Amino acid sequence: MIGASMLSPELQAFQAEVHEQVKTLVTPGLLFALDRNEIPYPLDFIRAMGDRRLLGVNVRAATGGPGLTIQHDALISEEVGYWGTAAMACARTFTAHVGYVLDRYGSRAIHERYLQPMLAGRAIACQGMTEPTVGSNVAGARTLLKRDGAGYVLNGQKRFIDGAQTADFILAAARLGESDDARTDFVTVCVDTSDPGFLIRDVQCDWHGFRGMGSSWIEFRDVRVGPEQIVGRPGQGWQILMDELLVERVVMTRAQLGGARRALGIASNYAEHRDAFATKLQGQAVIAFKVAECAARLDAAYLLNDRAAALLDHGLGRAATMEVAMAKLLGTEYAWQVADEAIQIIGGMGYTTKYPVERIQRDLRAARLTGGSSEMMKLLVQRGAFRRLHDPDFRDEFVSNELEGSPVWGEALAADEAFHPSRQSVLMPSRPKYVPSEAHDNRRS
Ligand SMILES: Cc1cc2nc3c(=O)[nH]c(=O)nc-3n(C[C@H](O)[C@H](O)[C@H](O)COP(=O)(O)OP(=O)(O)OC[C@H]3O[C@@H](n4cnc5c(N)ncnc54)[C@H](O)[C@@H]3O)c2cc1C
Repeated sequence: MIGASMLSPELQAFQAEVHEQVKTLVTPGLLFALDRNEIPYPLDFIRAMGDRRLLGVNVRAATGGPGLTIQHDALISEEVGYWGTAAMACARTFTAHVGYVLDRYGSRAIHERYLQPMLAGRAIACQGMTEPTVGSNVAGARTLLKRDGAGYVLNGQKRFIDGAQTADFILAAARLGESDDARTDFVTVCVDTSDPGFLIRDVQCDWHGFRGMGSSWIEFRDVRVGPEQIVGRPGQGWQILMDELLVERVVMTRAQLGGARRALGIASNYAEHRDAFATKLQGQAVIAFKVAECAARLDAAYLLNDRAAALLDHGLGRAATMEVAMAKLLGTEYAWQVADEAIQIIGGMGYTTKYPVERIQRDLRAARLTGGSSEMMKLLVQRGAFRRLHDPDFRDEFVSNELEGSPVWGEALAADEAFHPSRQSVLMPSRPKYVPSEAHDNRRS
């Protein structure tokens, strides 16, 4: 199977079994109803997944979970992305990343009240990060959790909250308002959606694709929160949010790869059978090369995803931020491109609802924005890349190879030092001052 090349035999067998199980839970009627927003959430599907213990499988056995890995979670979401819709995959993926942080940071009370019912598919979770005035810049969140006697009061608004109409609780990020530094001022809370003051302000599910999640604009209006509803410690919320996003990016991207794999499979099958100018479409090099490019992109994305999942499973956490961002960036961009090319390969029929390809293409568009947009992923990748590229040993070797000994080298250093008189040359910071070589002197005389 495409994408499975680096999986262990155990993981391949696991994925094959999940492939068959998920297939039995998805009907064309469910897919159409979700895509037309006729139902607000794939509730029965999530419950059935809970019955099969296919939710939040990275949650440790000690906390009541199956005790598998993030990679197992990613493979399950991939199969939901393959057979189902992006919304179904997202609803399942919530249980992986919300489950991860509730397991690792939550108290026993949180485990019993929220985590265990969620794993059974009996409590639906949603996640509140984005606000009307704050999207990519999460650190600018304004939702406030104010201390009030023995407890807290929560006020603020969140936008685009998937599943808000159906969810039983929301894992929300808020500020304590005690410091300007997001890294110490954030707090993560579980809020019951039945609590007085939890309000749906507007339903926002008229998406281009990714439908059937009842996404909404919500408000917390003087919601009372007990200390037992805080995940981790007050002030630990930023760390929790960053950990959650790492898991979300890996598992959610894998679901996109499942959708793209399905679209490419349908398109390549179509190309094999469709007559085109005395041969089959597959016999036209331009079409065959499209399939080749899509297959290569998809496999590259799978490899990055395998690596990111393995790094998280090995406990690297935020040390793997760049690798996770690379996997999310290329995974979501390639998945969408592959689905778009699948429509092109099929032609006009690809643009109809006869095949699920046009729906998959609309669905996959969303992940280039959610969980940190592609632009945000590039910011994370460049930060990690520059850090590594500025390693003194690496830079020294690079500069020496490229410039040292060339006729312009002395001039470049002199100009650099004149421009930065107060510090060492930026061209070669760890080297002694330049001594002109014979070759260079000869050239000047
Ligand atoms: C289908 C869908 C489902 C969602 N579900 C949820 C959910 O369940 N929970 C939740 O909390 N949120 C959810 N979101 C919100 C999503 O996380 C945000 O849309 C995303 O973080 C981007 O924020 P924004 O839309 O406010 O765009 P903005 O942050 O305003 O950005 C607009 C554009 O500018 C770019 N940009 C912004 N800053 C920079 C910069 N510094 N450098 C370069 N480019 C920049 C962005 O990449 C984007 O392309 C969902 C969104 C969608 C579309």
